[in-house]
Amino acid sequence: MRAIPTSPHFRIEKLGPGIYAAIARTRGYGLCNAGIVDLGGRTVVFDSMLTPMAGADLARAAERCTGRKPDWVVNSHWHGDHIWGNSAFHGGRVVSSRKVRELVLQKSRGQFEECRREFPKELAAMGGAKSPIRPADRPLVRAWFRGVLESPKKPSIVPPEVTFDEELVLIGSRRSLHLITYGGGHSPSDVFGYLPEERIIFAGDLAMVGLHPSVSDGWPDRWMRILRRMQRLRPDRVLPGHGPVGPGSTLGVVVRYLSDLDRIALGAVRQALSLDQVRRVRIPDRYEGWGFSLMFPENVLRAYQLELARPKVPS
Ligand SMILES: [Zn+2]
Repeated sequence: MRAIPTSPHFRIEKLGPGIYAAIARTRGYGLCNAGIVDLGGRTVVFDSMLTPMAGADLARAAERCTGRKPDWVVNSHWHGDHIWGNSAFHGGRVVSSRKVRELVLQKSRGQFEECRREFPKELAAMGGAKSPIRPADRPLVRAWFRGVLESPKKPSIVPPEVTFDEELVLIGSRRSLHLITYGGGHSPSDVFGYLPEERIIFAGDLAMVGLHPSVSDGWPDRWMRILRRMQRLRPDRVLPGHGPVGPGSTLGVVVRYLSDLDRIALGAVRQALSLDQVRRVRIPDRYEGWGFSLMFPENVLRAYQLELARPKVPS
């Protein structure tokens, strides 16, 4: 029996024999969750976290859990908090959709540089009375910003080198991990992992537990269609991109959130609210206790702008 590895960036939770979740700690530099799977003869890690520091711990944890260095590192999508740990996986092949590779090549360095520019100001503002970030969210957001600022100034951005268009199955002697994309919902291309026998889904940011999802780089309607297709796989457990492991019903909770968002946006368009009024829409009661509340105004704004741009059907 191997000891469960520890890290300041995440805690390891065993989901089954040879299957582990690395759940990001609030004050660590991982920010996103990761999955570790012993396929039998091969080890795969799903998402590499925010920083090379967390990525290095994750590579070590995967080795401790499975007895070998990771052979594959999957990126669920192009956002930095899921891929900037790639450089820590020496010898592990990075895998994702072809579209994710394109987006990483086009946008990742720019996203990193923008974060490095903006985060010092935002960190300083967070202590002030006017900060839009709720006190409950601050430890996590501070760790996120500090993680980026303490990463190497010239990061080594490692794009996926093995790509697929719809599905790729990583096969070991013990089990297979299905990597699937139904297109883009949270981002222009979202990949999730599926273990059919164990009925576990590694959702990336297509699902969150107890936290507001982020829609600003996505489309609520496409995202809901993707989640409905994922529901047909009937997962028992869902490892979200952020937050604790949830039951299969997690996917339905995100569908409801997105449909609420669409409803709010439609209402805002019908009432001809100004952008400022849209930004100030109150968080519905049922999401009041959720973390990442700073995402909500951005989400409403994005849904509102998509609603405005939607072609009107003549009545
Ligand atoms: Zn994301």
